[in-house]
Parts: sequence; structure tokens; C-alpha cells
Amino acid sequence: MKNIAIVGAGISGLSMANYLEKHNIDYHIYERRKENDLAGHGFLLPQEGIEFLSHIIDKNTLFKQGNFLKKYIQYSHTGKVIAEKDLNDVFVISRGALIEILTRNIPSSKITYEKTISFSDQEKGGLKYPDGSDIESDIIIVSDGSRSRIRKEIFKDEILRSVRENEMVNIIKNKDIAARIENNFMKFHHLDGGLTFGILKLSDDKILWYSQFDNERYKTDKECSIENIKDYMFEVFKEWDPLVSTIVRESSYKNIHLWPVYELETLNPFYRDNIVFIGDAAHPLIPFTSQGVTSALKDSFTLTRYLTEEKNTTEAFRKYERERKPEIQVHIQNGRILLDQFLLPLDQQKKNTLPISYK
Ligand SMILES: Cc1cc2nc3c(=O)[nH]c(=O)nc-3n(C[C@H](O)[C@H](O)[C@H](O)COP(=O)(O)OP(=O)(O)OC[C@H]3O[C@@H](n4cnc5c(N)ncnc54)[C@H](O)[C@@H]3O)c2cc1C
Repeated sequence: MKNIAIVGAGISGLSMANYLEKHNIDYHIYERRKENDLAGHGFLLPQEGIEFLSHIIDKNTLFKQGNFLKKYIQYSHTGKVIAEKDLNDVFVISRGALIEILTRNIPSSKITYEKTISFSDQEKGGLKYPDGSDIESDIIIVSDGSRSRIRKEIFKDEILRSVRENEMVNIIKNKDIAARIENNFMKFHHLDGGLTFGILKLSDDKILWYSQFDNERYKTDKECSIENIKDYMFEVFKEWDPLVSTIVRESSYKNIHLWPVYELETLNPFYRDNIVFIGDAAHPLIPFTSQGVTSALKDSFTLTRYLTEEKNTTEAFRKYERERKPEIQVHIQNGRILLDQFLLPLDQQKKNTLPISYK
């Protein structure tokens, strides 16, 4: 049996491990964060994402940890309703909760935390631990995220560029606000464009809020302190609809996360020799698509299928890339269109555009 190493235990690496586990294929997964570090944002999962997850986890367990959204309501920043749309099976869940569920099925002997793995060299085509010792592997599945260092080592000419949008994401406990927003996905847009505030209910007492901003007009520093972020948010949102300004004022900022967004100018091949890329490591998607998680799940499902069907690993990788790349290209295109819309003044944006890319 071939030795499979997976680098990165985000949604793509963990879902890959779950699919391999299901097919009794041996693997080992390496992750640089601490086991209990489940920080992060939340995801919108369209119906397709739920279907792919249901192959590996119990739907009821999933549904207990998040919330189905009923309606998308788009507002101006002053609270005027601009558009409404019913949502069909769109689910929201925190990243921490989904990571925790996906980790449950993985035996502890098959996962190593707190090790940052790197690529040893082109000739050996292998991996190494931080102390330089080699990791034995016949097949390497790289799932180390959008700024993948292994990908950069292999595709040295790639251009990873910063997108003209950053996101501030926060999950807070507040029963009153959770009750007020019901199961709606509320998104407020500044009339001048380039600034939004989204609110989603995760459970009876938890909400996720996020702000998307044009980083040329609204400058924030990745290194800035929580206090500075808080002051900045108060200042930017103080004149907004009272629901937004109240949330911004009353939130705890201890879990706030600032995400700079990146994309590849051109996609790389999804594999080289014995190394294959999945999830954001293969194709960073800008958040406007809301397809990062679903795409990661489809990547791991498809790759597992071909690894089980094909004796020849290269052929399995080739079929995986052939199947997945065209769909990813559509999401990349849609993401760029949604980004352009976001930067325009509100009266020039298309009405009723869901913040989700469908193929
Ligand atoms: C602000 C924001 C909002 C988003 N919203 C949505 C949404 O609504 N819906 C949606 O579907 N998607 C969303 N996404 C995208 C989604 O988060 C990702 O596409 C998805 O989680 C797949 O990620 P991944 O597992 O490929 O990578 P990651 O989640 O980045 O995981 C990579 C893992 O690899 C580990 N790692 C990195 N380097 C190494 C190394 N050298 N050695 C060992 N471990 C390493 C990291 O610690 C991490 O755990 C959003 C992304 C952002 C930034």
C-alpha cells in the first residue's frame, strides 16, 4: 500500500482524511497549529456542500452545530431594504465547529499537530519536519491553504496577488441580537460601494458578523492591535443603521480576525510528480464566491474516487485535475465579477445578487 502524507488539517486536508478513512486507505496528516486552536471565521454552505459533507459526517451532528438561513436581505448602510431573496438550503457554520466535527473520525495516531512541514527538494520530491528529518511518503497531498509554501517551492514563477478586499470576521455571543435577526442573512452596503457589513445567526445565542472592505479606501494593518481594530470599526460604522453600529459597539473583539485575501494570477497545474494540491492550496478563491469549503470537499471527494479507481497515481491525478479545474475557473471568474460589483457605488451594482457563485 502506498504511503500517503497530507499537509494541512484545514477543511480540505481533514475532509481528504475522512474520505480516505472511509475507504480504508492509510494516510498521515500533519498540521502546524495546536490541536485545540479552532480559531477562525464561518462558512456559508450551499446545498451541494452539505451533500458532500454528508458522505463523511452525520447530517444531524452537522445541523446541531450551525443554522439554516431563510432569507437574504440586502440593505443600504442606513437600513433601507434594497433587495430580498429566499434562500434554499444555505447553511452557516463556524470554521471551528466544522473542523471539530471532521476531526472526530480521525484516529489520533494518524494526525500530528504543531509541526510545520516543508518541501525537502525537487529531486527527492519529499517532505521534511522542521528539524530537517525526512517524512516518508509515496503520495503527498498538499492542503496547506491559499498561501501554500509548498506550492510556491514547486511553482516558483507563480504570481500570488493581493485582492482589493479584506475581511474582518467575528463570532460573538448575544442572545438578543440572535433573536432579532431570526434566520435571515442580512447584508448592509455603503452607498459609495467598497464597504459591507454582514450578519448571520449561528445558533440561539451566537452570531457571526463580517465586514468586507476595499483595502485601497479603508486601510488596516494586519499587525494592528485588537484595540486599534476596535477603534477603527467604531469610527467606520458609527453612522450606520443602529443594528450594525450596536453590534460593532457591543461586540467582544477577542476573536476578531482580519483576513487579507489573495488569488493566483493564473492557476498552476493541480499536481506534479507524486504531489497533488487540493482546496485553497490548489486554487485560492476569493470569499465573494462562498465556494471555498464546497470546492475543498469536492476536491477531496474526487481525488479519493480516482485514487481508488486508478492503479496509476499520475492517471488518478490527471483525472482529478481534468474534472475539477473547469469548475474552479468558473468560480474564479464569478468571484472577480462579484468583486467588481462590490467596488461600485450601490446604485450601479446589480440588484439581488447573492454573495454565492454557482457554476
Ligand atoms: C474571510 C474568508 C471568508 C470565507 N468565507 C467562506 C464562505 O462563506 N464559504 C466558503 O465555502 N468558504 C469561505 N472561505 C474559504 C474557506 O475558508 C476555504 O476555502 C476553505 O476553508 C478550504 O481551506 P483549506 O483547508 O484548503 O485551507 P485552510 O483552511 O487555509 O487550511 C490550511 C491548513 O494548513 C495548515 N498549514 C499551513 N501550512 C502548513 C505547513 N507548512 N505544515 C503543516 N500545516 C500547515 C494551516 O494551519 C491550516 O490549518 C472564506 C475564506 C476567507 C479568507
